[in-house]
Amino acid sequence: MSSDCVFCGILAGRLPSSVVFRDDVCCAFLDIRPVNPGHVLVVPVAHAACLAELDAEVGARVFEVGQRVAAALRGSGLRCEGVNLFLADGAVAGQEVFHVHLHVIPRYAGDGFGLRFGPGYGAMPARGELDEVAGRIRGAL
Ligand SMILES: [Zn+2]
Repeated sequence: MSSDCVFCGILAGRLPSSVVFRDDVCCAFLDIRPVNPGHVLVVPVAHAACLAELDAEVGARVFEVGQRVAAALRGSGLRCEGVNLFLADGAVAGQEVFHVHLHVIPRYAGDGFGLRFGPGYGAMPARGELDEVAGRIRGAL
């Protein structure tokens, strides 16, 4: 628990939230600035600022709850023709609250949301380059 963390404040009941799921490991509540109605955040109850601090079993549970929420969105009557799961790890990746959270975003045709790609996107590296990159990642696992 972090006293200056807004999500810890929600989990402790010091700040308001609209909860859709809670157990001892995870909580899911509505994003206050939703991309679309029904945009849910799934967070671990135990404070973890980033993926590196997140217990792997807790992370698995966060994803499991996200999967259940996605199914619930599709059955909720809210407009939901598809779902994006999104997790930002680090400020440069778009993380604004430093308590791990999985976005579950209902999507529908023409909603205007999307990912913006950099200028290098679309180029297909040679297999040798892909193998070299894969080797670097394998070496770090
Ligand atoms: Zn926190």
